[in-house]
Amino acid sequence: MSDNVLRNGKMNESEKDIELKIRPAEFTEFSGQGRIVDNLKVFIAAAKMRGDSLDHVLLHGPPGLGKTTLANIISNELGVALKTTSGPVLEKPGDLAGLLTNLSKGDILFIDEIHRLSPIVEEYLYSAMEDYVIDIMIDKGPSARSIQIELNPFTLVGATTRSGLLTSPLRARFGIKCLLEYYDTNVIQSILKRSASILDIEIDEDASYEIARRSRGTPRIANALLRRVRDFAQVKGEGYIDLKIAKYSLDNLQIDSRGLDEMDNRILNTIIYKFNGGPVGINTIATAVGEDAGTIEEVYEPFLIKEGFIKRTPRGREVTHLAYEHLRIERPSKQGSLF
Ligand code: ADP
Repeated sequence: MSDNVLRNGKMNESEKDIELKIRPAEFTEFSGQGRIVDNLKVFIAAAKMRGDSLDHVLLHGPPGLGKTTLANIISNELGVALKTTSGPVLEKPGDLAGLLTNLSKGDILFIDEIHRLSPIVEEYLYSAMEDYVIDIMIDKGPSARSIQIELNPFTLVGATTRSGLLTSPLRARFGIKCLLEYYDTNVIQSILKRSASILDIEIDEDASYEIARRSRGTPRIANALLRRVRDFAQVKGEGYIDLKIAKYSLDNLQIDSRGLDEMDNRILNTIIYKFNGGPVGINTIATAVGEDAGTIEEVYEPFLIKEGFIKRTPRGREVTHLAYEHLRIERPSKQGSLF
């Protein structure tokens, strides 16, 4: 299966088109995250009433839960333009200055992966966020000097999968902080039904529930699975998605009954078989399964912890009895009890 599409959202052209069609453009189309949506609606309405720019917003949560979507919705609801960039792209203060000076009053600058800003770019952002001013260098050589320029009041929307990596001065400059949670199965099911109807895919109730149940509470994964299951339905089935073809497809995609995929299973099996169930450090797990430690921490582990398969201890990660049960592996009795 294309791991990229499921996890990182990297997609080809036609997938991008599909993505644009199904991405909610306003709050009424955005399901779940009730408290966040309700609060944002109030803050947006208040900013509009006062004619102010919205306070800076930090969106935090695992990939695929709707951070970029929310940034777009915020700009649509405010009726302002949105410029998008990401932490690793902004290499030097000049890159940021170019973007900031081009913002009109109230516009949104969306910085994805904001935890990956370089320290000097981050520091440069402080005065822009706080006082809407930046220093820029003009001229070169001996006549080089810095002048301060004023910016139009703007809103920074930062998205991060790793808020723990944000420095506290940066975090403190966001007036609105939203932590996105994994979605309940019935909310994912309604997202799937909406996507299916936009894409003109026939899907029945049981099938949408089955896909939702195995989507790791993540809309991006649900939508990607829907596209893959549609392929199976067209080639191996009757063109519509019923429970039988949904199960057949998901099994072939190696998504198990709890939504764990091949890498999740590899992580659990590795901890169990190579490290006696743990505790074991994240870097050791990463080396053993051949995946980047950051990706494991950001993408795989939060769900495994949320579902109760892994727990974090001061000495590393440990699998729980649920992991043994789920993988149908007999749990060894703890050593050194009596003898
Ligand atoms: P993130 O930026 O957090 O990685 P995205 O905003 O790119 O996630 O969301 C991934 C996809 O999932 C979006 O294209 C959108 O179609 C869908 N999506 C996310 N959240 C929702 C939601 N609450 N309701 C409906 N669709 C959603």
